[in-house]
Amino acid sequence: MRPLSYARPHDAATAVALVERNPTAAFLAGGTTEVDLLRIGVHRHDLLVDINELPYREVEELPGGGLRLGALSRMSDVARDERVMARYPAVSQALLLGASEQLRNMASIGGNLCQRVRCGYFRDGISACNKRDPGTGCAALEGVNRGHAVLGTSEHCIATHPSDLAVALVAFDAVVHVIGPGGSRAIAVDDFYLLPNDTPQREHPLRQGELIVAVDLPGAVIGARSTYVKIRDRQSYEFALVSVAAALTVSEGVVREVRLALGGVGTKPWRARIAEAELTGAPATPESYERAAAAELSAAQVRRYNAFKVPLARRTIARVLAGAA
Ligand SMILES: Cc1cc2nc3c(=O)[nH]c(=O)nc-3n(C[C@H](O)[C@H](O)[C@H](O)COP(=O)(O)OP(=O)(O)OC[C@H]3O[C@@H](n4cnc5c(N)ncnc54)[C@H](O)[C@@H]3O)c2cc1C
Ligand code: SF4
Repeated sequence: MRPLSYARPHDAATAVALVERNPTAAFLAGGTTEVDLLRIGVHRHDLLVDINELPYREVEELPGGGLRLGALSRMSDVARDERVMARYPAVSQALLLGASEQLRNMASIGGNLCQRVRCGYFRDGISACNKRDPGTGCAALEGVNRGHAVLGTSEHCIATHPSDLAVALVAFDAVVHVIGPGGSRAIAVDDFYLLPNDTPQREHPLRQGELIVAVDLPGAVIGARSTYVKIRDRQSYEFALVSVAAALTVSEGVVREVRLALGGVGTKPWRARIAEAELTGAPATPESYERAAAAELSAAQVRRYNAFKVPLARRTIARVLAGAA
């Protein structure tokens, strides 16, 4: 058994300093990912800095109708917050469709955004995996890749990003607020997730010691009409094969505004900008929805077992848009 140290500081500056000065330290929030990965030997941290004493547990109002989600607010609390349900139903639904009730009661918003991929080769601790052990290769390329990504892939990694919440957040241009050794900064959630390219071990731009303190959902009237649909192999405890966060404004039969993001198909939460551009100003018809979905998926790169995701994603997007209109 590897020795493991634990600290539970009462202020953010101490938490940041403890992690910054030790390259093998990590923050601990709900522990539902971190403890799992330590136990199976994929994470090898030797110091856990528990951040649960820090004051980031609330959902707060922002000027202009937006909401600030504290990084330590629990998934269940945010999902059932009346303001989130009314202004961003897709965010509430995405949270409720993730994990199980017990996990959601423990798991935090910041931890959800930083969870690691569910690729079996990453998690088995021994297969070739550029994300876990850079330079060793990617066993999924020619392996069992049914659950893997078709958009944003590289020859070094094809794992899907697993967070449902992040898909809803990317549709609404949420902003991640971070504090760290160099001060504070704000990162658009779309920039927070990196494509694998040739550095798949880097999933987000956080430096050692940088701590997420909040996620802002900017005020957006369209958010109140949003929905999140998740297609998976079974009805609970399952990650998405395809998911869609969507909101649509239609007047006089024409699409005026649309927000669309996809999960389960991309190596990052996938903002469907090609489809959005196709749809804006187009007639609000099934043909438009199908054309936009096909355009978004036209860059898909499939592997031996995951080609089914392309028609599944196309059909799901078209169905969700038709229901949201
Ligand atoms: C059986 C099972 C099923 C699941 N199904 C789903 C699902 O369908 N959809 C889904 O979205 N998720 C799913 N999850 C993942 C779950 O949502 C995450 O485990 C959880 O959200 C992580 O939150 P946490 O607070 O427990 O994070 P922790 O485990 O404490 O931390 C996770 C990582 O984030 C880092 N971290 C935590 N907080 C911060 C912070 N504030 N700033 C910087 N870094 C931080 C930690 O150092 C660690 O590396 C599932 C998990 C399990 C075990
Ligand atoms: S897909 Fe990514 S996470 Fe999975 S084995 Fe390949 S490099 Fe590792």
